[in-house]
Amino acid sequence: MEQFIIEIPHAEQNCLDLIRLLRAQGDLASFEWGCQSGVHTGWGVITAGNETEACIVIPPLMRRKARVARVARFDVTIIAPVQKNEPVLPSPTMLHMYRAFPCWW
Ligand SMILES: [Zn+2]
Repeated sequence: MEQFIIEIPHAEQNCLDLIRLLRAQGDLASFEWGCQSGVHTGWGVITAGNETEACIVIPPLMRRKARVARVARFDVTIIAPVQKNEPVLPSPTMLHMYRAFPCWW
């Protein structure tokens, strides 16, 4: 099983219908919503065997506009081998980031 993020953009007039459908399916708790800040989109993370199974969560009338992507978390075990191969000097992009956001480093 893998994790998939589902993005369901919708019109303001479809909010309640979409929420009711997801509630009836038992999937409402998997979603967060931007509707109250004017971004009529729902984002949910679900577990499914593949992308086709993940799409079943999306109400059929919303599938054309919805996006689904398999997602994964990165942790230090994934980052460490990459860091070993990085040059000693930071790249120009990283130097720009250091200057732009000095409080982050
Ligand atoms: Zn909405």
